Amino acid sequence: MCDILHVEWTLSPKTPPRAILRCSSCGDTRPFRSSGRTRLNANGKQLDAWLIYKCVDCDGTWNRPIFERQSVRCLDPALLEALQVSAPGYVASLEFDQEGLKARAGRIEESEDIAIDGKVLRHDADWRRIGITLALPYPCGLRLDRLLAAELPLSRSRLQVLFEAGDIRVEPARKDALKRGIRDGTLITLDLRDEAERLAAGRAAMGG
Ligand SMILES: [Zn+2]
Repeated sequence: MCDILHVEWTLSPKTPPRAILRCSSCGDTRPFRSSGRTRLNANGKQLDAWLIYKCVDCDGTWNRPIFERQSVRCLDPALLEALQVSAPGYVASLEFDQEGLKARAGRIEESEDIAIDGKVLRHDADWRRIGITLALPYPCGLRLDRLLAAELPLSRSRLQVLFEAGDIRVEPARKDALKRGIRDGTLITLDLRDEAERLAAGRAAMGG
C-alpha cells in the first residue's frame, strides 16, 4: 500500500536514572546520582568492581556492584581496562541500564527528560496512515500515552478514544498499550479520519 507516512523516533534519556537510597551520611532517603567513576578492588586473584554513586545532598557515597569476586583470569582485558579508566562509553552503558540499577538499588527515579530524534523512513505523496516506530537505545520509563500526547497535537483522552475505536494500533499488541511504558521496536499506527487532525499529527510526527 502506498499511503504511509512512516517515521522513526529515537528516544534517549538525557540523564541517567538515579538510585533512591537511605544515605548513611545525612541519614535521609535521597536520590543518588552516578559520579561517572568506577572502582576496582583486588583481593588476591579476585576482583570486585563498583560504579560510585553520590548522594545529591551530602556527597555520601553508594557503591553499586558491577561484579564481585571475579577471577582476574576470566575477565575480558577490554573490560578490565574500561574499569581502570572509567571509560565514558562503558560507564554510560551502566548508568543508563535502568533494570540493572533497579536490581541493586531497589528504588530508582527515572529521568523524564528525553531527547527525541525523528527520521522519516517513508513518505508517500498520498499518505493517509502515520506509522511511528520507537527506537530506544536505553530503556526509559515513559508511558506511551504521555509520549504521544507530548509529541502529537492529540490529548491523552483523545488518544484513548482513538485507541478504543481501533484508529490507533500498537504492535506488538498489549493490553492497555497506551498506559504501558514505551519499548524498543514498538510500532504505532494512526489511522486518523479527520483530515485536519491527520495533517497536524503528520507534521508533528516528522518533528515539524
Ligand atoms: Zn546524604
